[in-house]
Amino acid sequence: MTGKFESHKNTKQIDTKKIHKGRTYSPFLTPSMFSVINPYDGKPFAEAHECSESDVDNAVHSAKQAFSGWAALPWHERSERIKSCCDVLMQERKPLATMLTKEQGKPLAQSNMEIMGSYMWMQRTLGRQNPNKVLVDTDELRVEHRYKPVGVVACIVPWNFPVLLLHFKISEALLAGCTVVVKPSEFTPLSTLHIVQAYNKVLPVGVLNVITSEKRSIGKYLASHPGIDKVSFTGSTEVGKLILGDSASSLKRVTLELGGNDAMIVLSDVDPKKIAPHIVQASLFNGGQICLAAKRVFIHQDIFDQVSSEVVSLVKGIKCGNGLDRKTTCGPLNNAQQYSKVRQFLVDAVKDGAEIISGSVPPELTPDSGYLFPPVVLKNVKEGSRIVDEEQFGPVVPLIPFGSIDEVIKRANNTTMGLGGSVWTNDIIQGEQIAVRLECGTSWVNNHADIIGPDDAPFGGIKSSGVGLEGGHEGLLGFMNTHIIKIVKTSKI
Ligand code: NAD
Repeated sequence: MTGKFESHKNTKQIDTKKIHKGRTYSPFLTPSMFSVINPYDGKPFAEAHECSESDVDNAVHSAKQAFSGWAALPWHERSERIKSCCDVLMQERKPLATMLTKEQGKPLAQSNMEIMGSYMWMQRTLGRQNPNKVLVDTDELRVEHRYKPVGVVACIVPWNFPVLLLHFKISEALLAGCTVVVKPSEFTPLSTLHIVQAYNKVLPVGVLNVITSEKRSIGKYLASHPGIDKVSFTGSTEVGKLILGDSASSLKRVTLELGGNDAMIVLSDVDPKKIAPHIVQASLFNGGQICLAAKRVFIHQDIFDQVSSEVVSLVKGIKCGNGLDRKTTCGPLNNAQQYSKVRQFLVDAVKDGAEIISGSVPPELTPDSGYLFPPVVLKNVKEGSRIVDEEQFGPVVPLIPFGSIDEVIKRANNTTMGLGGSVWTNDIIQGEQIAVRLECGTSWVNNHADIIGPDDAPFGGIKSSGVGLEGGHEGLLGFMNTHIIKIVKTSKI
């Protein structure tokens, strides 16, 4: 096994047709393209390849061919290549940020933050050591606990943080020694194509491949492909369940990072003025299109009115518009389906008795409209209403009063989801006591949704919010199989 690879030739311009003709990627057979829509105006502004099943076969084959050489490289050499990817990401960050804003909709400053978050995630991954360890080593016996890369990984990514979530997957997969076929969302293929093309300047041929398609059947074909050893999926709970079912026949490894319906619990000892910006940030960052957004904001009844009016005054100051306009603080929703879904949830909530205290129900979509959806704040929202019980994934903030701690914990846990949750109080001891009773993967006290902190904690959901972890030591091990070697030294055979 050689460990030597041929590097890609530099391609300066981003030209999706050129990308797909390159040897490293699947040499796409189909000439068909699909349109990429700018969510601000709802108009197509670019195209990406509509890959066929044969293109998927080629991408998987390319990754398979590259696997043995990449897996055989010493740990530090793979680290060096990933370090080079970090440098490339920094060189590409300006055009990448613009492209991300155009296809995703988020304000340019937030696109830049997403790219910097991806950089930090890769850097953090580089700190991970080869996990192999010796369990026993005596004159009689040596037992080694080795870890081997699982093989070819399909990394399937949604549209809300296409760059960051891609890096959550590929950083650890590549360091572990896996080769990868990436499939971005049909709504945000361009930033991924840009990144894969750029990284292939420094990665060996076949290590990182990409497939784009508008058809969900192509995602399914990739996820159930016999050449794929693991599926690392981030997306909806609904599709996660399909992937789990499809992987059963070949017992593929799966990591599923799925939907959430996070509770934020605000106790009576906080200052309404100080807590309001945290509520707005936790529920409306990225237009609420975050798996970890605070989607049910429980506020103690003693301070409910004051906190509500502080939240409303902040929300009224949010500037919705084109993400490329530097004054914009909230971009559009990403796509028409999402717009219609959140709008319908809002209409139903109002029918169920919810009162809009800021914003309004936006108009129904017309073929030519973009997906701007100015934030809406609700009170008198009933549990049982879809806006509370299901994942809205949008800019609607339901403010819900509560009376006692036991009652609010019960209500917060009364969901099939279990991604994150937070408690806000000046009483840190009581905050922790509540946090540990929340049924979710991560609970915060006086924070919400921070997953790229210095702690290097892994991240994942329980219940219907997922299977497995990303980040931390456990995230890396998710891309590796365990291999135990036991050597009896005293045997005379
Ligand atoms: P989605 O499930 O509709 O799509 C995600 C990806 O899966 C896309 O690339 C899509 O093309 C692909 N896909 C669709 N059907 C498939 C199939 N049958 N087999 C294989 N792939 C298939 O999700 P979305 O609408 O793009 O993203 C929003 C969802 O993602 C929300 O539910 C959100 O909570 C979740 N999410 C979770 C996390 C997390 O870390 N837990 C992070 C971000 C987003």
